[in-house]
Amino acid sequence: MANNDDQFKKVISHAKEYGYVFQSSEIYDGLSAVYDYAQNGAELKKNIRDYWWKAMVQMHDNIVGIDAAIFMHPTTWKASGHVDAFNDPLIDNKDSKKRYRADVLVEDYCAKIETKIDKEVAKAEKRFGDAFNKQEFITTNQRVLGYQEKIDTILSRLAKSLENEDLADVKALIEELEIADPLTGSRNWTDVKQFNLMFGTKLGASAESAMDLYLRPETAQGIFVNFLNVQKTGRMKIPFGIAQTGKAFRNEIVARQFIFRMREFEQMEMQFFIKPGTQKEWFDYWKDTRLKWHKSLGLGEDNYRFHDHEKLAHYADAATDIEFKFPFGFKELEGIHSRTDFDLKQHEEYSGKKLQYFDHEEGKSYVPYVLETSIGLDRMFLAVFSNALVEEELEDGSKRDVLKLPAVLAPTKAAILPLVRKDEALTNMAKAIVDDLKWDFNVFYDEKDAVGKRYRRQDAAGTPFCITVDGESLEDNTVTIRHRDTMEQKRVKVSELRDIIKKEVDVREWLMKM
Ligand code: ATP
Repeated sequence: MANNDDQFKKVISHAKEYGYVFQSSEIYDGLSAVYDYAQNGAELKKNIRDYWWKAMVQMHDNIVGIDAAIFMHPTTWKASGHVDAFNDPLIDNKDSKKRYRADVLVEDYCAKIETKIDKEVAKAEKRFGDAFNKQEFITTNQRVLGYQEKIDTILSRLAKSLENEDLADVKALIEELEIADPLTGSRNWTDVKQFNLMFGTKLGASAESAMDLYLRPETAQGIFVNFLNVQKTGRMKIPFGIAQTGKAFRNEIVARQFIFRMREFEQMEMQFFIKPGTQKEWFDYWKDTRLKWHKSLGLGEDNYRFHDHEKLAHYADAATDIEFKFPFGFKELEGIHSRTDFDLKQHEEYSGKKLQYFDHEEGKSYVPYVLETSIGLDRMFLAVFSNALVEEELEDGSKRDVLKLPAVLAPTKAAILPLVRKDEALTNMAKAIVDDLKWDFNVFYDEKDAVGKRYRRQDAAGTPFCITVDGESLEDNTVTIRHRDTMEQKRVKVSELRDIIKKEVDVREWLMKM
């Protein structure tokens, strides 16, 4: 089996080869941590966004969606705390001149200890076979408990030092753990310094009158500043939510891991406005609901876990991440945060406007509390894509690359293939099927190369169905439909195609699994 690094490299090259993700401005050697979505990638991304929007907005009669501007009045970012506190702790290696996020160096160190735990578990699983109880093992095995304690001690010290802005202690921790530059092995570190992640720009023509602006580092603030507008014009009653998808920008210093950490990325966020005091209940509700959404896509039950935050952001009274098992390990995919009334109160203070809700049942006004769910669309793309890519060995010993995307998200739902290119009757019939199906689905016509080769190409591109038109089709109006994952072929009537495809790709069928 390929190791994780090889698997990840394969994901990146496959994404390029099959028209999913390109490096931005590649002809100029690219721009670091900026990517373009290609013809298939743009479709996959749109389908993920739609799947989220349908579950979040269409299926909740108390959640509405907006589309706020990327530019916002600069005071927004003073009020939100981003001007003062949206920083990453950075450390430079004096020998290699490379810059790292200090917290990530420590977290990566802990991830290495975690692989040791995984190894112990795998060993024990082999030894005990069917009788193995993982839960019991990890809560009683001394070696595992020792590793876990070490991780917990390190992470809680890191959390405390970051919270107290004790950057000297973060450096001390790196030195005590003897963490070395991953590239060169050098331990010659500078002090840890804070670095603000917002991109600045200017509005206005002349230098004197220009106003300093920021590209938004999150979409959430566009929702907060519109809270009262939406509540009043939509006559929303608490509890209610406002959802939004859109671009956000962060000057990430350690931007690697492909589209996992980008400088320009897209978020899908929902702020749920609630009565103060009910936040615990709603926190649990949204944790559960969001995990169910993820699991409805069938990417594997064991590929998710919650990571509760020890270090809470300045606005939160509870926070958790849904982590996904990416090719480089479990990492944050989505954040769920109980943000209290911090944001609305801050905007009240800085704008001088009241941002309150009159609760008829209670007979009084209050600033609502907020529960946030925030997921990176690009990270979700990477989760779906990397999970889908598998190499299968077939019965005849040959191999095939297949991109087992959930059918509901696949860019192209079916490829229509005349068995031979030279037979005009076949190509005409295939094109007529394309013309009919394209009203409902993205379909693709392909007549080049032998049909086996065309199947492989569609497997690798992630197309769930191939429909082949052959001589028999001309006689009885039937075609063969082949499933990407099972490679099973069935003869069906042309008139049945629409329903067969719809059943497998319909959002309803997938979201019903939630
Ligand atoms: P991280 O700790 O990985 O930097 P974060 O905790 O800063 O992420 P949030 O501010 O909670 O992230 O943003 C919500 C979501 O937006 C994240 O769960 C992630 O999916 C996505 N996200 C954040 N930063 C980036 C980025 N630079 N590139 C791609 N997606 C991102």
